[in-house]
Amino acid sequence: MIINSKFDSGNIEVVDTSNPQDIQLKIHKDTHSDFMQWFHFNVCDAKDQPLKLKIVNASEASYKKGYEGYNACASYDQKYWFRVPTTYKDGVLTIEHTPESESVNYAYFAPYSYEMHQDLVSAARQAPDCKSEVIGQTVEGRNIDMLVAGEPSKDKKTVWIIARQHPGESMTEWFMQGFILKLLDPFDPVGRKILEKAVVYIVPSMNPDGAIAGNLRSNLAGANLNREWENPTLERSPEVYHVRNKMDETGIDLFLDIHGDEELPYNFVAGNEGNPKYSDRIKSLEDEFKNLWMAACPDFQDTHGYPKDEPKQGNMTVATNQIGDRFDCLAYTIEMPFKDNADMPDEEVGWSPERSEILGEGILLPVMQILDKLR
Ligand code: ZN
Repeated sequence: MIINSKFDSGNIEVVDTSNPQDIQLKIHKDTHSDFMQWFHFNVCDAKDQPLKLKIVNASEASYKKGYEGYNACASYDQKYWFRVPTTYKDGVLTIEHTPESESVNYAYFAPYSYEMHQDLVSAARQAPDCKSEVIGQTVEGRNIDMLVAGEPSKDKKTVWIIARQHPGESMTEWFMQGFILKLLDPFDPVGRKILEKAVVYIVPSMNPDGAIAGNLRSNLAGANLNREWENPTLERSPEVYHVRNKMDETGIDLFLDIHGDEELPYNFVAGNEGNPKYSDRIKSLEDEFKNLWMAACPDFQDTHGYPKDEPKQGNMTVATNQIGDRFDCLAYTIEMPFKDNADMPDEEVGWSPERSEILGEGILLPVMQILDKLR
């Protein structure tokens, strides 16, 4: 049996493979950072062999509770990902599976590779209503790709949507794929209506370096990008530095920042109630957007989520808080589960790439409906 993780988003350290019923593995930490949780590795030459794959340092993970009630993702072709029985006990995460193929991948969530990212950007660029722009480079020198959908004009609203500040939250780029392709579909009436009324700036992956490195939350300088929005620097957080500068040029009427949550098995949003400038206007926009989205999509709910910030106690280093306050605009963090949506569970795939894409498509309707009310 061969276990390997030397590929895009790979993360595993092999400790001992001598006993297939007691394979010992470790997750390595994020680059220059103590975060750890994401794993992705390939197992070869173990067809029809019952395996117990044990991640023995799982108790050191950033969100241990994320492993409770969680089943790992597996794939034979890296296209269709299904869940396999997984338990978290005594600090060890154990995946039990008998591969039906010579080669199988296991991951914390279905990966979205850098190659897929590049394909998505070039597919978007082919659309008549969309341009792509490189707005800077990451710590490792990769391009930060921005898409501009719709013709910018003074009379139009300005929408920004970014994803994958936390690179291990790969469901966010699946969400973006759904969002982008529907927005740019020339036959889609919702996408057409949005582009008539708004220009949409899109950064599908804020942290490609971290994604390739197999990190959960950090970029290659060890920064958690979603704590860099108050004072981003070229050295530590160029990804945020360049995007925030671009936002200052364009202004913003609606901001969405797409994330995944390790622990909560729901889709939910986090808003700006802790912001210094939080007002009745922003609150009613928040409520209306949530209600529109709930009405449009049974996979989204507002019962379970993060505890609300106390007034004026919001963390202004977080993108949604910083941008909401900076532009006095509707700004939401959107969270999807790593586990499943407990309101509408799917035993075979859990929360999945397909479901993330559909959620990304579905959010276009409330975006369209709220545009006229933003200012
Ligand atoms: Zn996140």
